[in-house]
Amino acid sequence: MQLRNTAKSALRIQGIPIKHLVALFLALLVILAAALWPGTDTNNAITERQTLVVSPIQDTPITPQIRYRTTTPAESTNANNTRNSTITTADSVELTRSEPQMLLESEEPQRLTDTIQPDTTATTEQQAVTEPTELEVKIAIDQGDTLSTIFDQVEIGQTTMYQILSADEQLLALDILRPGNILTFRKHPETLELDEMELYIHPGNQIIYRRVDADNFEYEEVINQGIWEQEIVAGEIYGSFYVSAIRAGLSKAEIHEINKLLGEQIDFNRQIQAGDRFQIVRNSQYVDDEFTGQTSIEGIRLQQRRNSYTAFLFEDGNYYDSNGESLTRAFRRNPHNQNFRVSSNFNPRRLHPVTGRVSPHNGTDFAMPTGTPIVSIGDGVVTRVENHPFAGRYVEIQHGSTYKTRYLHMHRIDVNRGDSIQRGQRIGLSGSTGRVTGPHLHYELHINGRPVNPMTANLPMATSVPQEQLADFNKRVDELVAIMEVAHEEQFAMRRDESQPGT
Ligand SMILES: [Zn+2]
Repeated sequence: MQLRNTAKSALRIQGIPIKHLVALFLALLVILAAALWPGTDTNNAITERQTLVVSPIQDTPITPQIRYRTTTPAESTNANNTRNSTITTADSVELTRSEPQMLLESEEPQRLTDTIQPDTTATTEQQAVTEPTELEVKIAIDQGDTLSTIFDQVEIGQTTMYQILSADEQLLALDILRPGNILTFRKHPETLELDEMELYIHPGNQIIYRRVDADNFEYEEVINQGIWEQEIVAGEIYGSFYVSAIRAGLSKAEIHEINKLLGEQIDFNRQIQAGDRFQIVRNSQYVDDEFTGQTSIEGIRLQQRRNSYTAFLFEDGNYYDSNGESLTRAFRRNPHNQNFRVSSNFNPRRLHPVTGRVSPHNGTDFAMPTGTPIVSIGDGVVTRVENHPFAGRYVEIQHGSTYKTRYLHMHRIDVNRGDSIQRGQRIGLSGSTGRVTGPHLHYELHINGRPVNPMTANLPMATSVPQEQLADFNKRVDELVAIMEVAHEEQFAMRRDESQPGT
């Protein structure tokens, strides 16, 4: 059974008499109408995307479709191909979907640049236009593209680019443009100034930067959780665990996480032997049947001749062994070693001092003198070391698949992208780089991709599953082990088939 949110999350509204009204007024009316008449459905209606408030996926009651994929070394190449082709489809889908009047212009054949004619039946803003103008331009990100070169290409000035970067300071989504991302620029029909820029990251995640006034943009993040499909990745060790796991279809990041979770129980370099087996239960995100690239490991079992090592993800976002003992190393609350004053709290409803609009503060600010040592709150891997015009020099660290932290406005950074980091390890010195009123550390904690209050959020504290939740936990373990057992049986069955080719 599949859990589908997609259809429900789209709001549709009736066609309304819009010809006689000015574009701006209508845009407001459309938003109002969408709020008042959800669920009404006509073919020529405008489809509004709804911003979903996303809770951690473990909170969602998932009744996943289970695809059993058991992989032996011999057939593993096929498994990898399947996965790759899914990703390719996901990257290209948005270009061919949902825009009936899209024209393809191939000025540069190797780059996909779409120009959309004003559509007299579609959006209100396009109604106001009488002659065809390139009001909407789509740019598919290529290797080596920067925001600056793309803005040059679409002939939008640097001033506007910095206004958008300013809006992106709390999100920092534009710092990691990757091939497969798509930027859509929508210009005002009369002034031809940029009204809106959309960043398409994957089918489940887009960000819209919308003009508020002459000097400011604000962002809206569109999230579609789609379906999390459960599958099992199983294999037999032949060579190293790493090589065998890659062959079975696990990613480098997933293998790193498995090493981390089981690493205190078993030495992956010395104790792994040929013939050992593993079964990994993994959830993968699909939106409109496209793989988004997001995965979550639900359960791990490594079987040796005498021992079996396991890890199970529980609803609190942490991993435990089959006895309910925590496998996630404890985090510390503060990214520094002294008691510094919180100068600005995490606040998703903060009002922007200039525009008066809601402009979230996605982290906690600590007032501290430049040069204060900053430490990682947990074990992890450095995923970003960047220099942003407003966020300044900053570091991002991924702690397993659930947690991520960011440290902004640093004076100096002592780590590189890809470095493995220990809890409490110094990553650099605080400072006042970027747009600040004084030296401070802006510190963010993200759980499952969403910023949370770092001072109050539940952090892994390396204990066991609470007594009152033990029954729930044991039920979850039983479910995951049952899935692993099926894969385990299939592994044996395949082996019998291979050893008896004639039968
Ligand atoms: Zn801040």
